[in-house]
Amino acid sequence: MRVESLVLRVIESRTDMKYAVMPQAGMIKIEEKPVPPIEDDKVLINVKMCGICGTDTLIHKGILNVNFPYSPGHEYSGVVVDTGKKVSSIKIGDRVTVNPNHECGLCYFCRLGFPNHCENLKRPGIKSNGGFAEYVSVPEKIVYRIPDSISFRNATLIEPVSCVLHMIDEACIKPRDVVVIIGGGTMGLICLLLCGYYGARTIILSEPVEYKRALAKQLGAFLTCDPAKECLSSRVKETDLHGANLVLDNVGSSNTVFEGYKCLGKKGRLLISGLNSEKAEIPISVQDIVKNELTIKGVFLNPNTFSRSIELLGMKVFPWDNLFTHEIQLSEINRAFDISAEAKAVKILVNINERE
Ligand SMILES: [Zn+2]
Ligand SMILES: [Zn+2]
Repeated sequence: MRVESLVLRVIESRTDMKYAVMPQAGMIKIEEKPVPPIEDDKVLINVKMCGICGTDTLIHKGILNVNFPYSPGHEYSGVVVDTGKKVSSIKIGDRVTVNPNHECGLCYFCRLGFPNHCENLKRPGIKSNGGFAEYVSVPEKIVYRIPDSISFRNATLIEPVSCVLHMIDEACIKPRDVVVIIGGGTMGLICLLLCGYYGARTIILSEPVEYKRALAKQLGAFLTCDPAKECLSSRVKETDLHGANLVLDNVGSSNTVFEGYKCLGKKGRLLISGLNSEKAEIPISVQDIVKNELTIKGVFLNPNTFSRSIELLGMKVFPWDNLFTHEIQLSEINRAFDISAEAKAVKILVNINERE
């Protein structure tokens, strides 16, 4: 009933809606524009919740470059209020989320099975058309239904969890691995939860912010390290003489990658998902890589992991709620972005239309 009346209201009047826009780095404001028209292959979503991603924060800080004006927000959930003529798999009233990485399916890399390397990749909410808006209109192809067991809040984690799942896939984690996780933000803490689930023996998490280290301990880290005060690689080797089997770097700066590299034991794997300064580089010994059979690997986006991520979010074994530190209304989006720059924040949710 509620959904139907909402649909009628939107369709009949096509009134204006509020959305957030960054006119330039360091500035974000709420503006109004008409609710997007529905196209044949598109789904109109009334957005309920949208999380602030590290990418959004880096764009706001001017560290990552985009074309301005820019509408951020790609970790969102909502209810379908209208569908185009050609849409068949999604219907009005469905609770949904969106995979913001929209591959073409036709290019060389898509046909090889690597959609994250698509030559025509579209990224709504990362390149434009973000989810900090009352309504978004997106292609059916990237819309996923979510079960009632996943709240709109937790559904905002489906995209970040899908990215960590790709990292876990590529890491070939084995039971009893010694794992080092660099960074205790949302991605690092999701890595921690999943590595524990996949049977890691000792998980050491490196993070300069005390609050996040305490949270990591609470979520199962064996040991935490403050990289501002202690040497991570020495601590790892004190804990296990043979060094780490696996290092997951969610930060991607020159310092963290180099320190992660030094933590590796023989046959060790270093995976990097953090995108940081374009100038990040490290001096590494080729002989060391050869003799110790080290693997150094980048992981990018979330190929083929989105459906599995929805299943994981539906499981009751993970304490997802602990990752949310703030919930702020859309009208106060400025404050939300100010907080995102603060050390204590982990996942900040922007409440757009959710009253449950
Ligand atoms: Zn994200
Ligand atoms: Zn493609």
